[in-house]
Amino acid sequence: MGTTHKGLNTICTHTGQLEDTQHQGAVSPIYLSSSYAFMDVDVKRYPRYFNTPNQEGLSKKIAALEKTEAAMIFGSGMAAVSTALLAFLHSGDHVVLQQTLYGGTYALVVEEFEKYGISYTFTEDLSESAFAKAITPQTKVIYIETPSNPLMKVTDIAMVAALAKKNGIISMIDNTFASPVNQNPIDFGIDIIIHSATKYMGGHSDICAGAIATSQEHMNKIWQLAKNLGGSLSDMTVWMLERSLKTMALRVKAQNKNAKKLAKWLDKKDEVAHVYYPGLKSHPDYALAKRQMKGFGGMMSFELASHIDAEAFQKALQLIKPSMSLAGVESTVLSPAQTSHLLLGEEERAKQGIADGLIRFSVGIEEKEDLMADIDQALAVVLKSAIAQVN
Ligand SMILES: *Cc1c(COP(=O)(O)O)cnc(C)c1O
Repeated sequence: MGTTHKGLNTICTHTGQLEDTQHQGAVSPIYLSSSYAFMDVDVKRYPRYFNTPNQEGLSKKIAALEKTEAAMIFGSGMAAVSTALLAFLHSGDHVVLQQTLYGGTYALVVEEFEKYGISYTFTEDLSESAFAKAITPQTKVIYIETPSNPLMKVTDIAMVAALAKKNGIISMIDNTFASPVNQNPIDFGIDIIIHSATKYMGGHSDICAGAIATSQEHMNKIWQLAKNLGGSLSDMTVWMLERSLKTMALRVKAQNKNAKKLAKWLDKKDEVAHVYYPGLKSHPDYALAKRQMKGFGGMMSFELASHIDAEAFQKALQLIKPSMSLAGVESTVLSPAQTSHLLLGEEERAKQGIADGLIRFSVGIEEKEDLMADIDQALAVVLKSAIAQVN
């Protein structure tokens, strides 16, 4: 089935689906074989070669969603991140990365790269001159993530892609927070697109997977390393991810809509000191986000006013649950200062603008009125107990 002119929901629903030629069932059959006859065939199929029927089918869907020639599915987002980076970085090479990255990606770089002889520079400043200054003659890769966690800062994708091309460097993006529904980095010239499919692609908090989307030429290089590192995904989970993707655009658009409404609502509240959402006109990167995103996403952060205890607030929420992960159909919150950014230390957190009262909010698909009511009742509980303590 051709994919080039299909609309988003059609790609989500149909592209890459395997035909059930035996029973004409509505969904892809699952092929669990780890052993396939090898005589008289060109393709040697094997799960760790990323080429089982289900893997190939799902790859077509993800490539169509990111408008790339090829895609590959991994056992986790970090398997995709590590394989992509290490496929293009050898001993003696240098990589430029933006400073604000997913914690696992940051850890991969600072804990592992030295032993492979790969040097790196992080840039906190996301301007063109800052990225350009970090590039050395040894630089082979430039790596960004946008919007970034937890302050939803937006990196200029077209600027980074052009800078990379000018310097003969491979550009990579972690597109997890936006999802292919809200952002297609290939449109802005990025070479390699990475996803934690654990998040919006899976969308139901029951799958751990990753994906890379890029040209066939780059994918051949990535595949060479991927089969040696062995980070493939089981066909059972591949099938689950295919099913999840059928509703991805519907889910993400509902989350976009909810998040925008909630961001505006929170922004007006006395108990909220600040809202970080790229879809708010007050966000410093609003214009840039509008240029490169089709929707502003379901992720935001808000800082509670200093008289509200963030921990007590999270405990008082009933519908919205505290959770380390994100992007599920259910709304969740997390305190970066106590979890994802705990190890940074108080001083570094303050420098990055991550206050103790900051709450990261992954907005789900529930009715927005129910989410507002839950936040209001939690604020009331916290304020009441604060008054009781004073008395
Ligand atoms: C979760 C996440 C990852 C890592 O994905 P895993 O599936 O947990 O390995 C990478 N990048 C971003 C932005 C993420 O949110």
